[in-house]
Amino acid sequence: MKLELKGITKRFGTFTANDSIDLVVEPGKVHALLGENGAGKSTLMNVLFGLYVADEGEVLLDGKPADFDGPGDAMAAGIGMVHQHFMLVPPFTVAENVMLGHEQVKGAAKLLDLEAARAKVKEISDRFKFDVDPDAVIEDLPVGAQQRVEIIKALSRDAKILILDEPTAVLTPQETDELLSIVKDLRDAGTAVVLITHKLREVQAVADTITVIRRGKVVGTAEPTASQAELASLMVGRDVSMTV
Ligand code: ADP
Ligand code: MG
Repeated sequence: MKLELKGITKRFGTFTANDSIDLVVEPGKVHALLGENGAGKSTLMNVLFGLYVADEGEVLLDGKPADFDGPGDAMAAGIGMVHQHFMLVPPFTVAENVMLGHEQVKGAAKLLDLEAARAKVKEISDRFKFDVDPDAVIEDLPVGAQQRVEIIKALSRDAKILILDEPTAVLTPQETDELLSIVKDLRDAGTAVVLITHKLREVQAVADTITVIRRGKVVGTAEPTASQAELASLMVGRDVSMTV
């Protein structure tokens, strides 16, 4: 599914967090959204996920205008989001969490039976080698595995576009490498992955296309072959080649 954001503007009072942002995300690609803290990345994704209503602009899915009245609509349309802070219930099992995650989805494709949820977790975990046991209790799992549960939740809802908001911020270096490998596998399976980050190494490692935002505006796009100095200069808005 192809996603287009056109002229998205989001204001908080008099502050403009997103200023007429254009973004195109293609299926089977990793699209990095690169920007410093406070650049407006999460705000843009919250608009896309139906959590915020844009003041201006539109979201198109396969060319058709999408009007999301909350995350339930976004999920039903095939958009999945893994937030910086996981939305899991710690004392519940993986399968229970996946099942709960379906209550918000509007329309079809609901998974409201625990046996069906266990089977779905196993199927997705096996397909992408996530090594997640459907009956494990969330609070007993390392952070990297909890994050894979969030990804399973999204995939179990048939997400075609997966937004990962600063996914490596909470991970160890080894978990980070594992996640980047998962991102490539998801991409190869046809998912459009939006990777939000301010870490240049990650962008270079997995991105197919890069959009850089600064102070709420798109300030440029870059190829994955761009150097860290080029990316950093775009991100902060001045030449930082001497310091990288
Ligand atoms: P990023 O994800 O790139 O770090 P955010 O999108 O979270 O940035 O935030 C962009 C700007 O918008 C920041 O200055 C932040 O303080 C502001 N902001 C974000 N959410 C809100 C909100 N709900 N109310 C007011 N200001 C907000
Ligand atoms: Mg953010």
